[in-house]
Amino acid sequence: MTPVVHRARTAEPLVGLTSPGRFVDGGFRAAKALLDVVDPCSGRVFAQIGEGTSTDVDDAVAAARAAAPHWARTTPRQRSELLHRIADRLVEHTGVLTRLESADTGKPVAVARDDLEQAVDTFRFMAGAVRAPTSAAAERYAVDHLSVLHREPLGVVGVVTPWNYPLLMAVWKIAPILATGNTVVLKPSEYTSLTTLKLAELTGDLLPRGVLNVVTGTGPVVGARLAEHPDVAMIALTGSVASGRAVARAAADSLKRVHLELGGKAPVVVFADADLPAAASALRTAGYWNSGQECGAACRVLAEDSVAEELIELLAEQVGGLVVGEPGAGEDVEIGPLVSRAHFDRVTGYLDRARAQGIRAAVGGAALPGDGYFVAPTVLADVPEGAECAREEIFGPVVTVEKFRGEEEAVARANDTQYGLAASVWTENARRSHAVAAGLDASTVWVNDHLVLASEMPWGGFKGSGYGRDLSLYALDDFSRTKHVMHNLGR
Ligand code: NAD
Repeated sequence: MTPVVHRARTAEPLVGLTSPGRFVDGGFRAAKALLDVVDPCSGRVFAQIGEGTSTDVDDAVAAARAAAPHWARTTPRQRSELLHRIADRLVEHTGVLTRLESADTGKPVAVARDDLEQAVDTFRFMAGAVRAPTSAAAERYAVDHLSVLHREPLGVVGVVTPWNYPLLMAVWKIAPILATGNTVVLKPSEYTSLTTLKLAELTGDLLPRGVLNVVTGTGPVVGARLAEHPDVAMIALTGSVASGRAVARAAADSLKRVHLELGGKAPVVVFADADLPAAASALRTAGYWNSGQECGAACRVLAEDSVAEELIELLAEQVGGLVVGEPGAGEDVEIGPLVSRAHFDRVTGYLDRARAQGIRAAVGGAALPGDGYFVAPTVLADVPEGAECAREEIFGPVVTVEKFRGEEEAVARANDTQYGLAASVWTENARRSHAVAAGLDASTVWVNDHLVLASEMPWGGFKGSGYGRDLSLYALDDFSRTKHVMHNLGR
């Protein structure tokens, strides 16, 4: 059965947005040229943002550089208190932030609200963690010499974020970068800049000017200038593998640090002894959260041969019940549209080619009629090994199911991918849960669950999914440098 798209406009989505310009040195500056922002539910232009230039980036970097020495001298406690105040400010503005995020991305209100809760928790975690550093104590490690370890900020950090979690991905970077005493120039995705601009506005009276700057615009102009800029000490990108390569190349001449959170294609390995209804129910969320536009999505199921058909049936039943609609259509909406026309064409292209290859859609399999970029939640069954849809990141509401025989084949097939971001294993066997989790080449592995995150634990990639860690103490390490000062006590 084809799902119905529940329709209802979000009332006045832009109430509360003050400026489409860039935010530099503590205030908004008007843009010379503008880019249209399109409502993914209708395909119509509903806002505009500044189309930044490389000169705009240079101005923002200069402001961030000027602010850096003073900000670097603040104490962890002072920065911590400010991060807590930013978190409080976000909570106070939950309504406007979730409305803007839903309008810009099309994501259901429940997803936008969850993003905001996670963003608030990230600020609070980093605010606490920066006050309790863990490293070697000052000590006489060499005879008559006292070693002291300093943790220093890097200076100006450039950040480039994607469109799938605009506010949350910005905060995953901003919180540890500011906590460790750096200043920031951030470029949001040109598709979804509104909540990042709002965040800059909301923190404008809290942070010293120049500490947080936002320049909107396209990747090849604004992002590329940030990556190559000689006064930017580090560039952190969350985005596709192609953008990661471009950023790493642009950063090479200045030898700046590079931090890359790239794509994923998470395998979900389901053994015959697994609790199949629990797996199907978890996949309903983990495979389709944020319309599957999620780097860790449970999108590639590998099911043991003997239970594959049963799992496909259970999954089709779960997925067939997902509620599709516009964010304004109600709290029960679980799936929104895809973010843009270009992405919609990409995802439906994968579905068309899978169909042409004779791959069966157990449920869904095509775009939904009417305005906007809605695609039916889809389960592709009996997918042959190596098929395009099981190999490449589709980044939409599409889960593929392949079959395997035995533990060894399961691990080998799950690891046969360029990505290494996330994976899960489903089994009631304790020995197998440890062995398979250890064998999977992904930096996050869940056992009998998928897509549960905690601010205390690192998130990032192996292999083609990039390097560097978000969240946890590891992010604080990544965005700072250690200096060893050794005093000769014999003189
Ligand atoms: P994208 O790579 O198209 O864009 C990401 C950002 O990079 C945008 O701001 C874009 O303008 C910018 N960009 C593009 N070309 C650039 C260039 N040459 N130089 C500098 N910046 C450039 O990615 P997207 O479509 O916005 O996001 C989806 C991708 O992000 C998926 O691959 C997804 O897996 C990945 N992602 C990864 C994580 C993670 O934690 N690993 C989280 C979210 C999204």
